[in-house]
Amino acid sequence: MPFKKITSLAMALALTGLAACGQDSLPPPAAEEAVPAGEVNIYSYRQETLIKPLLDAFTEETGITVNVVSGKADALLERLKNEGINSPADILLTADVGRLLRAQAAGVVQPIESDVVNEVVPAAYRDPAGEWVGLSLRARTIFYAKDRVDPATLSTMAALAGDDFKDKICIRAASNIYNQSMLAAMVARDGAEAAEAWAAGMVANMARQPQGGDRDQLRAVAAGECDIAVSNTYYYGRMMADEPGSRDREVAESIGLFWSDQEGAGTHVNIAGAAVTKHAKNKANAVALIEFLLSPEAQQIYAEGVYEFPIRDGVAPTPIVEAWGPFTADSTALSLIGDHTTEAVMIMDRVGWQ
Ligand code: FE
Repeated sequence: MPFKKITSLAMALALTGLAACGQDSLPPPAAEEAVPAGEVNIYSYRQETLIKPLLDAFTEETGITVNVVSGKADALLERLKNEGINSPADILLTADVGRLLRAQAAGVVQPIESDVVNEVVPAAYRDPAGEWVGLSLRARTIFYAKDRVDPATLSTMAALAGDDFKDKICIRAASNIYNQSMLAAMVARDGAEAAEAWAAGMVANMARQPQGGDRDQLRAVAAGECDIAVSNTYYYGRMMADEPGSRDREVAESIGLFWSDQEGAGTHVNIAGAAVTKHAKNKANAVALIEFLLSPEAQQIYAEGVYEFPIRDGVAPTPIVEAWGPFTADSTALSLIGDHTTEAVMIMDRVGWQ
């Protein structure tokens, strides 16, 4: 007890600038040592090289050291669950709200508590309880063979399931989280019956069994296997950014992007986002980093490097993306997707979507 008293006296002296008076008789007070800004630890699905410039800028501005563990999104969530209270992670960075909702359901995240988040990010793109937040937007829309499809024949994602598109569509497998989230959003918006009718129509219209990733659907359009593909737009953006004359650049140039549902609900969008882990040891630093990633400067760099859309209003996407023109995004709250993902998976199973 007496030792404690001396220490707090020393600290009080230090704080009032009088510590020098007692310097000879008292041990150097702890408060005089430079307080390190500390660190923040990220589990990121996104490769460190992509976000490094941003993280370096954050460290320069705040003095906070950032440590990144990169990995596959599902593996990172598993790791977080297994580590429990001993996890070193403060932030989980992941893509697709479906994964953020899984983290939320697993109980490994906590509310972010930030006025900046609430002001900057539209309500549809963050958790009502604050347990996850979007940092950028990714759109899932329709792509078509320029030489075989008149874009005037395109309208909505729902219309792709109609008779006009028999054997013309390439889309990836039912196991893919992008399709699960898109269908779950349809269930939330249009009801389960309409969503199932759509899924059945899509299966009837597939040009081939689902295979490969989004990029492979675009390549299949270029190769003439199908006329239409459903893909996230950033893959198209990356292909467009390839060297002129390269295979993927030529694929992208032979394909047009069509913004679906512009007369109705708007194009389906999803997020790449962040959550603060439940057992974050550096919570304040984690919130500071998330707020930094939402700043106009960071939003520009973040969206530029990955061909996604800034989530913050008033920040322009990279020129390749801007060239696709403005579009109306579906404003259905992404938090609703979680309520309908299981149903979406069952629907795809019932209609034979492989
Ligand atoms: Fe992706």
